[in-house]
Amino acid sequence: MTKIIKINPEKIDMELLEEAAHVIKHGGLVAFPTETVYGLGADSFNEDAVRNIFKAKGRPSDNPLISHIADLGDIERFAREIPDCAVKLAEEFWGGPLTMVLKKRKGIPDSVTAGLDTVAVRLPSHSVANALIRLSGTAIAAPSANLSGSPSPTTAGHCIADLDGRVDMIIDGGDSMIGIESTVVDCTTEVPTILRPGMISAEDMREIIGEVNFSGEVKGAPKCPGMKYKHYSPNAEVYIFNSTKSIEEDENSCVIMKNSEGAGFSNIKVYDAGKTDTEYAARLFYFLRKADEDGFSKVYAQMPENSGIGIALINRLMKSAAGRVLD
Ligand code: AMP
Ligand code: MG
Repeated sequence: MTKIIKINPEKIDMELLEEAAHVIKHGGLVAFPTETVYGLGADSFNEDAVRNIFKAKGRPSDNPLISHIADLGDIERFAREIPDCAVKLAEEFWGGPLTMVLKKRKGIPDSVTAGLDTVAVRLPSHSVANALIRLSGTAIAAPSANLSGSPSPTTAGHCIADLDGRVDMIIDGGDSMIGIESTVVDCTTEVPTILRPGMISAEDMREIIGEVNFSGEVKGAPKCPGMKYKHYSPNAEVYIFNSTKSIEEDENSCVIMKNSEGAGFSNIKVYDAGKTDTEYAARLFYFLRKADEDGFSKVYAQMPENSGIGIALINRLMKSAAGRVLD
């Protein structure tokens, strides 16, 4: 049985949230809101609980998890070395959508790190996430709260659709604001390396710490193990389009695009992605799921700008679309 509770992020009912903390403390699984996407959390230091995350999601065991902390100092529970750049990035971007990969300390369960010598840590900005971590008195290991392979969840409804009956509790704290997962930066290399793009861009980080590597794709054996799997896929086939001329209008297809008014469609459903790539990011996963719910078999999604958060959006869309790009 999955218990669903509703928490207002602006006025947190601590007594109710205490129930969720109780579940975490006793080795259970709780889906909770963060500013990026919803996470499926368990006590980072409870090996069995963490293993259950993989079972509930159907996640391959070689795909490590991000541990979420609520106090900067807790980074020391995870990392045996904290390079200067990590301190600077944390000061600038925490709480927020930045995950840092650091050399791990002994005692962190192998299931959290998938047996790697490194560990991923993030301090979120979402009030409910932070309060849950504090009340639980531990760090919370959490991947996205979806079934492995499906689009990441940005509402409690998405978590319910994927995980009802598979987890102990789901906290409904409203929509995730950013809508795509955190930037992952590896701080164990001489020059920090972006393993997964997100809202915080290479440019944003370069302003704080100087050099940052980002190849745009992970080559060879992926260091960010999650990047090799099928990801973010609705049942419908996704195509990325550059020009609306490539779209064949019919009733089984739909379009996701920015500034769609005036695009001149007559016979196709259009989901408007807002005016900017920031708004597009907040809605992308929502619309990919909506396209399935509404029964479409084909999704045409507009190519984002190749800058800022657009780079992260392109990264997610390319996976959803299995690389299918139209003119
Ligand atoms: P998810 O929260 O589902 O988006 O998954 C967490 C992401 O963080 C995955 O892409 C992981 O591969 C990545 N990650 C977690 N730990 C590490 C690590 N130690 N080294 C590299 N990437 C990691
Ligand atoms: Mg995920």
